[in-house]
Amino acid sequence: MIENFESKLNEYADLLIKIGLNVQKGQLINIRSSVESADFARLCVKKAYEAGCSDIIIDWRDDFTDRQRYLYADDSVFDSFPQWKTEQLDYIASNKGAVLSIYATDPEALNAVDPDRISRYSKAKGNGMKNFYAAQMANEFPWCIGSVPIPSWAKKVFPDLSESDAMEALWNAIFKTVRISGDGSSIKLWKEHIENTARLCDKLNSYNFKYLHYKNSIGTDFICELPEEHIWLGGAEKTKGGIPFVANMPTEEIFTAPKKDGINGVIVSSKPLCIDGSVVEGIRFVVKDGKIVNAQADKGESVLQKAITVDEGASYFGEIALVPFDSPISDMNIIFYNTLFDENASCHMAFGEAYPCIKNSDNMSREELEERGLNYSITHEDFMIGTRDLSIVGIDHSGNEVEIFKNGNFAV
Ligand code: ZN
Ligand code: ZN
Repeated sequence: MIENFESKLNEYADLLIKIGLNVQKGQLINIRSSVESADFARLCVKKAYEAGCSDIIIDWRDDFTDRQRYLYADDSVFDSFPQWKTEQLDYIASNKGAVLSIYATDPEALNAVDPDRISRYSKAKGNGMKNFYAAQMANEFPWCIGSVPIPSWAKKVFPDLSESDAMEALWNAIFKTVRISGDGSSIKLWKEHIENTARLCDKLNSYNFKYLHYKNSIGTDFICELPEEHIWLGGAEKTKGGIPFVANMPTEEIFTAPKKDGINGVIVSSKPLCIDGSVVEGIRFVVKDGKIVNAQADKGESVLQKAITVDEGASYFGEIALVPFDSPISDMNIIFYNTLFDENASCHMAFGEAYPCIKNSDNMSREELEERGLNYSITHEDFMIGTRDLSIVGIDHSGNEVEIFKNGNFAV
C-alpha cells in the first residue's frame, strides 16, 4: 500500500494541469494516454474541466493493439498517415490547445517487429505531423509530458518484484521524481525548482560559449560548437503568447542546441534507452562535421540504424543537455527504460530536430533557423551520455576555457 495514495494522485494530476500545462479558462485540451492509465487520465480530465478548459479531445493508445498492427496489418498502411489525424492535430495546434501526454509504454512492446515497418511509419507519421511538431517545437501552444506506471513497464524496471510490488515501487519512484510527498507542497516546490533552474541558465548564458569539449572514461570525447546567440533553457518555458508551462515532468535538465555541422569526435551512451518499442544499449557514434558517420550498439543496432536514417537530419544532432550525476533522479539509481525519467538522470543529447534555442527565434522561419545552424528533422531522440567522471570544458569566443562539469557534476 502506498501511503496517502489518493491524495498523492490528486496532487499529481493538479500539478500536471496547473504547472505542467497551466490550463487557461476556455482553452481546448488534448490528453493522450495509454488505456492502462485510464484512471489517471480521467482524473486529469476532471482537473482540466475544474481549471476551466472548454473541451477535451482524448486519444487512447495501447501497446497490444500497436504490436498487433505492426505484426499483421496490411503492408501498405505503414507508408501513410491518415489525413483526418493530421487535420485533428492541426486543429489543436491552430486553436492553441494544451497537450498532455501521459506517456507509459512497455519498453519492449515492439520487440522483434520488422524495423522497416516501424521506420516507414515513423516517416509517414513525421510527415503527417510536420506542422503540428513545428508548432510544438516553437511553443505555439503549451504541452507537457508526464507518466504513470503500467504493469508491463513496472516489471521491466523492477524484474525481481511481483507485479503489484513493482507497480507500487514505480509509483513511489515517480512521485519522488515529481516532488510529491502527499503533504500538498509540490506546487510550491516546483516553483522554487523552476526559479533555481532559470538562475543556472542565466549563468551559462552569461559565458556565451563557442565550444564545449566533452570527455569521459567510457570513450566519449568530442567537441561541440554552439550557434551564435544560442540560449540555455530549462525548467519552465513560455508559449509564444507568454504563458509559462513545463514541457516535461520531471525535468532536471538545462539544454541548448548544437550547431548542426559543429560536432566532431566520439559519443558513447551511458544508459539503455527505448527507441520505437525496443531497447537499445551501448551506442557508439563517430561524428564528423555534425553527421553520424558510424553508429554501433551492443543491443538493438538495427533499430538504431533505422532511427538515424528516417531523414537527413536524423543523423545530425538537435540537443545537448546538462544534468548533474548527483541529482534527485540520478541518485535513485533506477534505470527507468523511459526517456522522460532517464534523460533527467543524466547529461544527454538528441539526434534529430533542434529546439529553436537562439535569441529572438520567435519570428524566424524554418529556413532562417537552418541558416543559423539548427538541425531540422522529423525525429528527435534523446540518449544518455552522463557518467560519474564526465568532464565538460566550455571555450568562449576569445579562447578562454571554463570547466563546466567536473566528475559528472557542475563545476560552475
Ligand atoms: Zn533533454
Ligand atoms: Zn530531447
